[in-house]
Amino acid sequence: MDDYKCKSVGIIGSGIQGVCIGLQLVKKGIPVTLFDRNDPLSPEFKAASYGNAGHFSPYAVLQFNRPDILYDVPKMLISSYGPLALKWNYIPKMFHWFYHYFKNCNKKSMLHTAKYMHQILNLSLDAYEEVFKEIDTTGLVEKKGIIYVWTNKNLKSRNLEIKIRDDLGVKQKHLTRDEILELEPNLSPVFDAGVLYEYAMHARDPHGILKNLFRLFVQRGGKFIQTDIKNLQQTSVNETIIRSDTDEYKFEKSVIASGAFSKKLTDQLGENIPLDTERGYHVHFKNQDHLISRPVIFLDRGFGMTPMNQGLRAVGTVELGGLKNPPSKKRINYIINCAKELLPQLGSHHDEWLGFRPTLPDFLPILGPSLKNKNIIYAFGHQHLGWTLGAITGKIISGIVAGEKTNLNLDPYSSKRFN
Ligand SMILES: Cc1cc2nc3c(=O)[nH]c(=O)nc-3n(C[C@H](O)[C@H](O)[C@H](O)COP(=O)(O)OP(=O)(O)OC[C@H]3O[C@@H](n4cnc5c(N)ncnc54)[C@H](O)[C@@H]3O)c2cc1C
Repeated sequence: MDDYKCKSVGIIGSGIQGVCIGLQLVKKGIPVTLFDRNDPLSPEFKAASYGNAGHFSPYAVLQFNRPDILYDVPKMLISSYGPLALKWNYIPKMFHWFYHYFKNCNKKSMLHTAKYMHQILNLSLDAYEEVFKEIDTTGLVEKKGIIYVWTNKNLKSRNLEIKIRDDLGVKQKHLTRDEILELEPNLSPVFDAGVLYEYAMHARDPHGILKNLFRLFVQRGGKFIQTDIKNLQQTSVNETIIRSDTDEYKFEKSVIASGAFSKKLTDQLGENIPLDTERGYHVHFKNQDHLISRPVIFLDRGFGMTPMNQGLRAVGTVELGGLKNPPSKKRINYIINCAKELLPQLGSHHDEWLGFRPTLPDFLPILGPSLKNKNIIYAFGHQHLGWTLGAITGKIISGIVAGEKTNLNLDPYSSKRFN
């Protein structure tokens, strides 16, 4: 295995996972072709990696498979002013996902997810620092920390989050309302307390960063083909084929990094992986980014605001409704109202964007070989944290492709947990 050198790799998806994986592979001298139906350099590129909140959040170990949240779900769904919404026509299609979600919504699974999210989140900033040395990040990244605020309504949940992060050694600084207002004086004091993650960073333009990483990939010899991939197949021990409607491309190994769209491909490989999407939205308030210095997330509302080059990006909510339903005006209005609750001086908004978080029911990503086709590697399901985890996913998956040893325990990320 020591002399092994992979001869070629095809990657489906040029979101942050695909581009970071491609970059690490070309750095190892392995020929790589990236496929995407949209060119990452074009304004039509609107994937999750374009429109997210831009937080690099290495602290976010706790996910939504937590029993305390489960009790609040019916209340949230009934309220028209809540952070969670359903497209009822889609719910019958989510039974498989819900089955695994309820199986994983208990204290043991919650702590398992937290432990293994922590394993990779803890390496996420260093992995970005490494790739950021190779691109121009001027005006694209800021290191001013990230603030979460909350009211006293759900203190049991807040205390649980604080305790689990403390137990895992995550650094957090508790803030009173006055301390928050000292840091962000324009906020309306509608919250009671919060926490600051001082070492967290944010992107002022996630798409700008993605484009620079993609350009570096191409400069290093990576190829890009703009096409819609219909299927892929492992044909022998050292050959996989990726097919569009008109062409087929042969590689020794292939990687599925297609975000929330990955299920269409894995279903064809005979693995029934319960991947689905948590839809989220953003709007911009142009020239209002000066109102806050760093991202502020209002936990009670499931929404946040990030100062970006496009303006103040108000972003969030979770809507369960699949990939095909149209955007919901109600969700957009919800985000606008939440933003104005914290910053009443905001005027009218621009741009309305719907994005698809790729989410597995235990909230761990799948990173590793397909169970039935060892030369097809999976890299999807990063849910709310795919932006943060891009660079480390690049390192992990490129290591798997290249047959390198690792000290990380990668078993928890295998798709075998759903079989
Ligand atoms: C509202 C919102 C806010 C978020 N905020 C944050 C945040 O602050 N911090 C954070 O860490 N994460 C955040 N996320 C999550 C993060 O954006 C995603 O987890 C991450 O972008 C997923 O990256 P990806 O590369 O897996 O998928 P994507 O970015 O979705 O890219 C997948 C690519 O694959 C292509 N593709 C799919 N199928 C095919 C096919 N068959 N043929 C050709 N091309 C195909 C698509 O065109 C797409 O370009 C947020 C997400 C949303 C929706």
